[in-house]
Amino acid sequence: MKMELIRQLCNAHGISGYESDVTKIMEKELKKTCVKVETDNLGNLIATKGKGKKKIMIAAHMDEIGLMIKHIDDQGFLSFIKIGGIDNRALMNQRVHIKTKKTTITGIIGSKPPHLQKSKEKDKVIEHDEMFIDIGAKNKKEAEKRVEIGDPVIFEPNYGQLSKETYYGKAIDNRLGCYIMLKVMENLSDKINLTVYAVGTTQEEVGLKGARVCAFRLNPEYAFAVDTTIAGDTPQIKKTESSLEIGKGPAITITEASGRGVVTHPRIRELLTKTAKENKIPYQMDVIEGGMTDGAIIYLTREGIPTGVLSVPCRYIHGATGVFDIRDVNDTIKLLTKSIEKISESI
Ligand SMILES: [Zn+2]
Repeated sequence: MKMELIRQLCNAHGISGYESDVTKIMEKELKKTCVKVETDNLGNLIATKGKGKKKIMIAAHMDEIGLMIKHIDDQGFLSFIKIGGIDNRALMNQRVHIKTKKTTITGIIGSKPPHLQKSKEKDKVIEHDEMFIDIGAKNKKEAEKRVEIGDPVIFEPNYGQLSKETYYGKAIDNRLGCYIMLKVMENLSDKINLTVYAVGTTQEEVGLKGARVCAFRLNPEYAFAVDTTIAGDTPQIKKTESSLEIGKGPAITITEASGRGVVTHPRIRELLTKTAKENKIPYQMDVIEGGMTDGAIIYLTREGIPTGVLSVPCRYIHGATGVFDIRDVNDTIKLLTKSIEKISESI
């Protein structure tokens, strides 16, 4: 069932550099629809479909933000570093899953209780290095039997539904993009007059690394990154800060990170907006001051690759639980499929 695959992807364990659980799910699906599925030295998963001369790359990053065990203290508490951009406030008292060599164990993020804090301490945001993970170990020795320095940590999987079209989950950034890419590959015909590469990229959250090496290798004529973006439809966000809403269609990026990220090629921008209009697919324009996607590095590869970014607007991304509207996911699948078909028809 469709929702089952999104759930599986969101619940999978995969911080940057440790994406293999996600890769397994993606590989299984891509093998059903593509001719060739392979991985490269950085763990990027590359699937190929179609026979045309012109090459198109779709990139969806598989990694999620998370933590990594840094130290085990004498009492058996674990300290950690952050992998990717996480607000310290989002960490407090969360349940986490630590992936060890043998199994996955649950931990609780703790800190000094407010009751014991001095009034000055109470007002400040607690830094991540003042927190620890409690795995219920009695002492260092017992903790060391269960975890090792370097074990990757994610927020506890929590996928679920809020209303008819609204869902929530861990790592919706960017397992939604992964899901969209899988479905686009399923939709495209084997006979398409293009060679389409679907790439599950690695290490996006820590510097767009997988996409960088993969774009160089594939050297496509055009590329699309599929990701998530920040919706501004919650209290206290002004329309001037973000006017994106969930349920109003995919976001077509014009400029990311105030121009430091991708600046969408006019040809791609026109292709996406025109295709949306022709197929009556709702869409929103995304001009954003913060945040970058794989698109930012792909478009700077070699002599420059015209690149577009399609995003699903989400609430609370980079926290333990994000919220999205399933209609936006389906509309993004439709818009990207139709846009790639349009490129193939124009050749
Ligand atoms: Zn992302």
